[in-house]
Amino acid sequence: MQNLATQCGSLRVVGLGPGADALLTDSVRSAIAGATDAFGYFPYVERLSGLGHLTLHGSDNREELGRARSALNLAAQGRKVLMLSSGDPGVFAMASAVFEVLDDAGPEELERWVAVDIDVQPGITAMLAAAARLGAPLGHDFCAINLSDNLKPAAVIERRIQLAAQADFAMAFYNPCSKSRPEGFERALRVLRQECEPQRLICFARNVSHADETLRVVQLQDVQAEMADMRTVVIVGNSQTRQVGRYVYTPRSYGVAGSR
Ligand code: SAH
Repeated sequence: MQNLATQCGSLRVVGLGPGADALLTDSVRSAIAGATDAFGYFPYVERLSGLGHLTLHGSDNREELGRARSALNLAAQGRKVLMLSSGDPGVFAMASAVFEVLDDAGPEELERWVAVDIDVQPGITAMLAAAARLGAPLGHDFCAINLSDNLKPAAVIERRIQLAAQADFAMAFYNPCSKSRPEGFERALRVLRQECEPQRLICFARNVSHADETLRVVQLQDVQAEMADMRTVVIVGNSQTRQVGRYVYTPRSYGVAGSR
C-alpha cells in the first residue's frame, strides 16, 4: 500500500544557520537537495537562488501565516516543500507559524493537510553562533527574549527583562530594533539600567559568520542605543560574566559548587 504521507508530499521546516555555508547542517543540506520548492522571507530564498532544481517562493517578513498556508497547500499536492528560516526554525521563526496555521485549520484544510509529512530540522541559532565567537557568555543559565513588539505588548517584554535580570539570567536579545521600532532596544536598556550594575557586560554581535561580522563588548554604563540594529543579537551577561583576554565568559557556578 502506498504511504499516504509520501503521496501527499512533505514540508521540511529548516534552519539555514547564521549565514556561513560551513554552519549549515548536513541534514538541512540534504533537505535542500531533495526539495522541489522553497518558501521564505525574500533574503533567505535568495540564498538558494543558484540551485536550479528549486522553485522559489519569496515573501515579505510580515506574511508568515499566509506563507505557511501556501507551503502546506503545495505539499498537500505532492510537492517536496522547504520552509526556510535563518538560524533555527524554532527560534522566533517559521516552525511555530506552521503549527499555528495547522492548529487553526478548518475541516476542509485539515483533510488536505493532515497527511503532509512535516519535519522540523534544526539550525544554529544566532545567539549560539554569537556566543561561540565571543567565548562562552551563555555558559550558565540564560534566556532568549525577542524585543519585537509585533506579536506581544511592550510591557510584557519589559517585565520579562526585569524578572530575568532579577533572577540573574544571562540574556540574548533578538530583533533588538528596526527602522519601524527604533525605541525597542532603548526601552530594554532602561530596564537593564534599573536592575543591573553599571559594569555589567553587554555584547553586540552583528552579522555573525558573515564577511562583515562585528563583535563588540561594552559595559552597561557605556552602551548607546545605536550599537544594536536588526542584524545584531545582543548578549547581556549575568552578574558573574567576565573577560579573560579577548574572550567573554560566564562561569558555570557562583563559586559555591566547588568547581572553580
Ligand atoms: N531564527 C533566527 C532568528 C530570527 S529573528 C535564529 O535562530 O537565529 C531575527 C534576529 O536574529 C535578528 O534581528 C538578529 O537579532 C538575530 N540574527 C539572525 N542572524 C544573525 C546573525 N548572523 N548575526 C547576528 N544576529 C543575527
